Amino acid sequence: MALIVKKFGGSSVANAERVNNVARIVTDEYKKGNNVVVVVSAQGDTTDDLIDKAKEINPDASKREMDMLLSAGEQISISLLAMAIEKLGFPVVSLLGWQAGFQTNSNYTVARIKKIESERLRAELARRNIVVVAGFQGINKYDDVTTLGRGGSDTSAVAIAATLKADLCQIYTDVDGVYTADPRKVKTAVKMDEITYSEMLELASLGAQVLNSRSVEMAKKYNVELEVRSSLEPQKPGTIVKETVKMEKMLIRGVACDKNVSRISIVGLSDHPGTAFKLFNALGQAKINVDIILQSVGRDGTKDITFTVSQDQCKDAMAAVEKMEDVLKYSKVVHDETVAKVSIVGTGMETHPGVAAKMFEALYDANINIQMISTSEIKISVLIDVEDADRAVTAVHNAFIN
Ligand code: ADP
Ligand code: ASP
Ligand code: MG
Repeated sequence: MALIVKKFGGSSVANAERVNNVARIVTDEYKKGNNVVVVVSAQGDTTDDLIDKAKEINPDASKREMDMLLSAGEQISISLLAMAIEKLGFPVVSLLGWQAGFQTNSNYTVARIKKIESERLRAELARRNIVVVAGFQGINKYDDVTTLGRGGSDTSAVAIAATLKADLCQIYTDVDGVYTADPRKVKTAVKMDEITYSEMLELASLGAQVLNSRSVEMAKKYNVELEVRSSLEPQKPGTIVKETVKMEKMLIRGVACDKNVSRISIVGLSDHPGTAFKLFNALGQAKINVDIILQSVGRDGTKDITFTVSQDQCKDAMAAVEKMEDVLKYSKVVHDETVAKVSIVGTGMETHPGVAAKMFEALYDANINIQMISTSEIKISVLIDVEDADRAVTAVHNAFIN
């Protein structure tokens, strides 16, 4: 008997028909004699709608209360799915995050899982119940509800699979696998049968939302075999994410796009030792995650530093920089709240010269200006105007993959 964890995203449980469809997929697995844990997200756009409701009442609501609100979405979907499974005549129990033993730190709205106290989960499985768990949520040491950050129910599923040493963790969504680019944006995108954890982690961190990056990180760490599949065509084979895959002659694995990026430039900083330290130390203390950094060559005793942060941290980052005005003695700060980062990912590029040139040529041909560039062994990212983002993804994708 195998233990299978199945996770269904918001669109897979968006309405009664979809919930009934998920109940069938789950019970078909159970009928094979396997134990099944199901993790679900909130229905459709519920989480976005709850955020809008909160903003109407208090745009500066505390993160604790936001978590109390957002966790409600998943409570609705677990109970509805459990009812659908009951109707098919199978034994089932739904559990909130805390009931399933999810203990997190107290970083409200972006909490990290510390551990899963799995007694209840194991007891329910021993009773041969199908266990339906609310994704995206846990409880902290003060018994407060926490959430794991947007897209966090993928991580809930992988965490359960790792803790219970499940045989497989399947992520069912509204596409039938991981593609070389977002298949909704790039018509020529190709589905991959397999992808390594490292490549998937880069793609996910760089904006391919099909899997949450923390979930991939955790799957890699605990060696959980992951599979991305379609909930609408559940028979279709999906994409397997694992340690090593068959060598393919692919220079790049995929193109990702992140539109949740803001750029901040500090102009006319004094060109002395310690400037970068003071600036990024202040940002670190304000808990700002800085991504790409670019420093100009000093000229006439001054230099400029530009960096990017996620859009939701732009306001806080600007405040931290402005607070440092006396220390950093810059002439001005400018920012663009909405820019886009387009990246190519692939372990093949390490050993192939000319990959960067090919990417930049594709952007040039599409008349797209590059604002910043950042590279690592297995990725190249460029920052561009958000208006150009979709065109850039297609142009770059088609230059490498056809
Ligand atoms: P869920 O609600 O099931 O968690 P998400 O919306 O979070 O679903 O993720 C699925 C979406 O990810 C797809 O609809 C697709 O548009 C998008 N996506 C982005 N990049 C990729 C990619 N490389 N491969 C597949 N899907 C991708
Ligand atoms: N419902 C949450 C969100 O919309 C968690 C998830 O979908 O994974 O972000
Ligand atoms: Mg998701």
